[in-house]
Amino acid sequence: MLRSVILAAARSPRVERLVETAPVTRDVVRRFVAGTSTDDALRATAELVKAGLAVTIDNLGEDTLTPEQAEATRDEYIRLLGALADAELTPAAEVSVKLSALGQRFDEKLAYDHARAICAAASAAATTVTLDMEDHATTDSTLDILNRLRVDFPTTGAVLQAHLRRTEGDCRELAGSGSRVRLCKGAYKEPETVAFQSRLDVDKSYVRSLNILMSGEGYPMLATHDPRLVAIGEDRAKWFDRSPDTFEFQMLYGIRPDEQARLADAGYTMRVYIPYGTEWYGYLMRRLAERPANVTFFARALASRK
Ligand SMILES: Cc1cc2nc3c(=O)[nH]c(=O)nc-3n(C[C@H](O)[C@H](O)[C@H](O)COP(=O)(O)OP(=O)(O)OC[C@H]3O[C@@H](n4cnc5c(N)ncnc54)[C@H](O)[C@@H]3O)c2cc1C
Repeated sequence: MLRSVILAAARSPRVERLVETAPVTRDVVRRFVAGTSTDDALRATAELVKAGLAVTIDNLGEDTLTPEQAEATRDEYIRLLGALADAELTPAAEVSVKLSALGQRFDEKLAYDHARAICAAASAAATTVTLDMEDHATTDSTLDILNRLRVDFPTTGAVLQAHLRRTEGDCRELAGSGSRVRLCKGAYKEPETVAFQSRLDVDKSYVRSLNILMSGEGYPMLATHDPRLVAIGEDRAKWFDRSPDTFEFQMLYGIRPDEQARLADAGYTMRVYIPYGTEWYGYLMRRLAERPANVTFFARALASRK
């Protein structure tokens, strides 16, 4: 219920204005977002890479409505990739891209062309791109664009969401050799017709999907903070005889940093998803929807007006 309310608020311009102008919002945002500028992203990346972690960087923004905005997002990614290479932070750092930020909602071809330009810049910077997955209405289009990008940029990563009923089938399709697939639970509110609604069903779907990916020939990227699922990931790596360089764990910036360090120290690749930029509202609201404790944290901060 609370989750639905927050996810609805994530799409409300009125609530957005209210949250953005609240005096303490900055402190809350800072916990989950590296900052607003390219330099902020580079600083956070350098710190984590120095500590032995890998990184994927997301320039915040989604549901872009104009070609100019889409072009600006493309240019920012290209600038970021150049700066990462100059700072010798690749290949430890890659980038995560939302196709809706590149114009997918109003011009799929434009989004494909921009994504292709970003993949080319990533390749020149000795790294790669993962295409974030958004709501279920975009899944087919995103997977179609992924397959086209992989013709020339085969390391381009996919994201599959365990809460969608179709995901086991998509895992089978994408478990082939060299295929990088991030498996997450799914952050968007979806109808019962296409998505499991209970936490238990989503978790069970995650485990079935994880089994398919870990027993396949691709490169699974297990994106979760859930201790039970991390333990199952470690267990399946042993069961399917996977060495640590054939899969990885992923978590979000600011969430369970001690566990991130533990997994890296244990010899796994642990990749941290670092969001940066001014368009943090939708991202922050999805994080709040995931965890009641985060809402309490935010509400207390708002009430204290410090
Ligand atoms: C790297 C990465 C990339 C992602 N990319 C996408 C994407 O492209 N598309 C998409 O839809 N979603 C994406 N997500 C979000 C994902 O779908 C989930 O919404 C999000 O990860 C929350 O699910 P969870 O698996 O972490 O478990 P949850 O069900 O949120 O939490 C399970 C358990 O994990 C522990 N836990 C969770 N948060 C905390 C915390 N703050 N502190 C301590 N313990 C905690 C608790 O024990 C909790 O009970 C991504 C997530 C990650 C990590």
